[in-house]
Amino acid sequence: MSTGERDFKKLIRQDVQSMHAYAIQDSMGMVKLDAMENPHRLPAALQAHLGQRLGAVALNRYPDGRVNELRHALADYAQMPEGFDIMLGNGSDELISLLAMACDVSGEAAGSGRPAAAILAPLPGFVMYGMSAQLQGLKFIGVPLTPDFELDEAAMLAAIAEHRPSIIYIAYPNNPTANLWDDAVIDKVIAAAPGLVVMDEAYQPFASKSYIDRIARHGHVLLMRTMSKFGLAGVRLGYMMGPKALIAEVDKVRPPYNISVLNYECALFALEHAEVFAAQAEDIRAQRTVLVNALQALPEVKTWKSDANMVLVRVPDAAKTFEGMRSRGVLVKNVSKMHALLGDCLRLTVGTADENALMLAALKESL
Ligand code: PMP
Repeated sequence: MSTGERDFKKLIRQDVQSMHAYAIQDSMGMVKLDAMENPHRLPAALQAHLGQRLGAVALNRYPDGRVNELRHALADYAQMPEGFDIMLGNGSDELISLLAMACDVSGEAAGSGRPAAAILAPLPGFVMYGMSAQLQGLKFIGVPLTPDFELDEAAMLAAIAEHRPSIIYIAYPNNPTANLWDDAVIDKVIAAAPGLVVMDEAYQPFASKSYIDRIARHGHVLLMRTMSKFGLAGVRLGYMMGPKALIAEVDKVRPPYNISVLNYECALFALEHAEVFAAQAEDIRAQRTVLVNALQALPEVKTWKSDANMVLVRVPDAAKTFEGMRSRGVLVKNVSKMHALLGDCLRLTVGTADENALMLAALKESL
């Protein structure tokens, strides 16, 4: 080792060295249907208008009070109840990390009456819940869903009683299974939770139900959403609503300028044109119906119903079908190794009518 070099193997945490980096697939030149993005771009006239708006932004200054205009606009858009407040993250990914940081208290498990520093979520689910726990040095408790991807009520309640988690994540709808949950089971989980419950509504624009009109019943339930699936995945803007006093505490761990001037100006602009994005979401929901119907007509493919802009399917050989589709220029997500319950499953993002037709053709040829 030369002078000045350091042995990073000794400097970097052992658990970080053992981790895999979050894998982003190379999608150059592909029909990209792997990450639940909105396939529609901003209409050309709005692009020019937004360009002017962004050009006029004071890039020389730190983000200022205008970020609060976005907080208020989002609260109105989401119909946040009285007594609640809203905080913003650089994507909901950041909010998930900040929550783990804020809840890192040394609790004790069963018997103490105090929540332990653990995070609990059903599996298969969104990977960031587990990752945020691990990076913060917290325990992660993954509770398997039933084989038909419903919440396992008995297993959830038993795990909550045993581990007394500080945070429970309920993705509503779930990723990658795309379904909503039985409301009665959600109520029992919320009632049994000794800590916080986060309803993660990332896929709300495509869902038939939301928890927004029920959060005010509780003092320990937070509702998280993102502008990503709405149509601004590139902007990175997530938001979380909860009782005022609770949000005030969590917000203290947020880096002060986490939302750039460009992020908030884009998000404000998008909300001023919410009807454009609502029409895009409506198109995606309509295309989802067409896609699911076509998939259900394939006898070798098992298709689950979806409340999101993705459809989970099981094929006879996921690796073969995934590679076959990729070689035909269509990129989806092979989730078959993510969890034992997902054997031979692929996750298909709902695209435009044309993209979905290409995806279906590639899928059929690759079975
Ligand atoms: N929650 C769920 C359930 C997700 O699937 C995702 C992303 N795929 C996120 C949160 C994070 O979204 P973002 O960071 O883009 O806001």
